[in-house]
Amino acid sequence: MPKTDVLVLGSGIAGLSYALKVAECFPEKKIVILTKSDESESNTKYAQGGIATVINNQGDSYEKHISDTLKAGDGLCNLKVVQAVVEEGPQRLHELINWGINFDKSKLGNYDLGLEGGHSEHRILHFKDITGYEVERKLIIKIKQQQNITLLTSHFAVDLITEHQLKSQKSQQKLNCYGAYVFNQKTQEIVTFKAKCILLATGGIGQVYRNTTNPIIATGDGIAMAYRAKAKISNMEFIQFHPTALAHQFSHGRSFLISEAVRGLGAILKNEQGEAFMHKYDVRKELASRDIVSRAIDNELKISGADFVYLDCMSISKKDFMENFPNIYAQCIDIGIDINKQMIPVTPAAHYLCGGIDVDINGCTSIQHLYACGECAHTGLHGANRLASNSLLEALVFAHRCFKETIKNIEQIENKISIPDWDGENTFETKERILITHNRKELKSIMSDYVGIIRTHERLMRASKRLNVLFEETEDLYQKSKLSTPLFELRNMISTAYLIVEQSMKRVENKGGFYNSDLN
Ligand SMILES: Cc1cc2nc3c(=O)[nH]c(=O)nc-3n(C[C@H](O)[C@H](O)[C@H](O)COP(=O)(O)OP(=O)(O)OC[C@H]3O[C@@H](n4cnc5c(N)ncnc54)[C@H](O)[C@@H]3O)c2cc1C
Repeated sequence: MPKTDVLVLGSGIAGLSYALKVAECFPEKKIVILTKSDESESNTKYAQGGIATVINNQGDSYEKHISDTLKAGDGLCNLKVVQAVVEEGPQRLHELINWGINFDKSKLGNYDLGLEGGHSEHRILHFKDITGYEVERKLIIKIKQQQNITLLTSHFAVDLITEHQLKSQKSQQKLNCYGAYVFNQKTQEIVTFKAKCILLATGGIGQVYRNTTNPIIATGDGIAMAYRAKAKISNMEFIQFHPTALAHQFSHGRSFLISEAVRGLGAILKNEQGEAFMHKYDVRKELASRDIVSRAIDNELKISGADFVYLDCMSISKKDFMENFPNIYAQCIDIGIDINKQMIPVTPAAHYLCGGIDVDINGCTSIQHLYACGECAHTGLHGANRLASNSLLEALVFAHRCFKETIKNIEQIENKISIPDWDGENTFETKERILITHNRKELKSIMSDYVGIIRTHERLMRASKRLNVLFEETEDLYQKSKLSTPLFELRNMISTAYLIVEQSMKRVENKGGFYNSDLN
């Protein structure tokens, strides 16, 4: 049974920056990072816009960033958390810069700060339109230089080990986390990892929807694991849909994002008839907040029955477009679209989860020795809607806070409990893997058709009934079949979807990114 001091689940910005800090602080301690895919596959890798922080104090201020964040969150942000994240942001950004991560500078040598929807000042640090790629790549380089970190790819965390798992729970007792059962995808075996501190940094849930900007790893695994381990989960109803994902499914199940900065440069949304429509929905037209633009597009699509609307970029010069969005330009060319001659087909896509595993201001979950940060965690920063480019910032600030908690606690944790190995008896190789694929497709359809941008009581009820059937079928398969990654993921996606539906049903007021037309 592998033993480590610290177990990190996930290799995005949250997991990597936490692991690096713990490793640098405790050269004698062992840190294991597990990731289910290759080392860099993550939401982090695809972040385009950048990281919001107050770095220019000529004009910008913490008060302004705090006020913008609170406004986007529509009354549901935790003020203390917002203050902490905004005020600690510049320090965390300087650490990234010291680790060798590049951000664009102007000719005068100052950081070239971008402006995004909802921000009252230019405050987005970015590296071209591939900020996340730069961050992920450089963090991986740093991780590999650290002797006391082991990074294991193709290791899928299946379940957290708590008293509940060990069946020794006493009533009222606060649960402890002792490690995780992990599926080694290469050997096809379940390995038990024992650790003193465990960090969940497993990212988002976009794949429960048909259209998503998230890569295929974003199946809500950490949230589902925490839910099964009886951790508190909330605000799952607040899913941010990005209004303009390229309406072209790449084979790897992810829709490519057309950044809202393109609308910032003058691109216009048009319907099937080639008519601009945003003026009907908001005086800010194309620059209204993400939730308003997404709902407007959704409405236009419902009226026309089409699968997408268009983004007309023809008023932007080729030079300006290529200078600002080289990656978007190249992706469009790849699928045969010349943005100077043709409009880009776009559709809203599930983009970001504002809720997740409840943590306190130090990143502690409701289970002892289990921390969570990044997109899987619900810190209270985003409230009902995330302000653009606040999520990488949140991941950095909370990874630091989890690191602080780890240093404070690790020496007192013994973890001498004996943990049984995984019980894989009485399972057999299923002859019909297709059942898993069908159920995954069905789940995505249910969520997109009934739990999308505009919800109603009836649609939520329908989703709930259909999810129950999928749950029963999948549990049956899970009890009997030999284990596989697609089956683990399907199970997690069903739990995640169930939490989104259940928490949507409980919400009695429309706020931020949540909209139930029966509540008007
Ligand atoms: C297209 C796109 C553009 C974005 N642009 C921006 C932006 O400009 N600014 C901004 O602030 N935010 C942006 N975001 C959001 C931001 O990228 C994410 O919120 C953030 O990167 C999440 O980081 P994370 O470390 O929490 O998770 P991730 O980066 O998603 O990493 C999760 C990790 O967990 C691993 N994992 C998951 N499940 C398991 C399991 N069962 N076992 C083992 N490993 C597992 C994954 O393999 C991965 O390594 C964007 C997101 C997308 C998709």
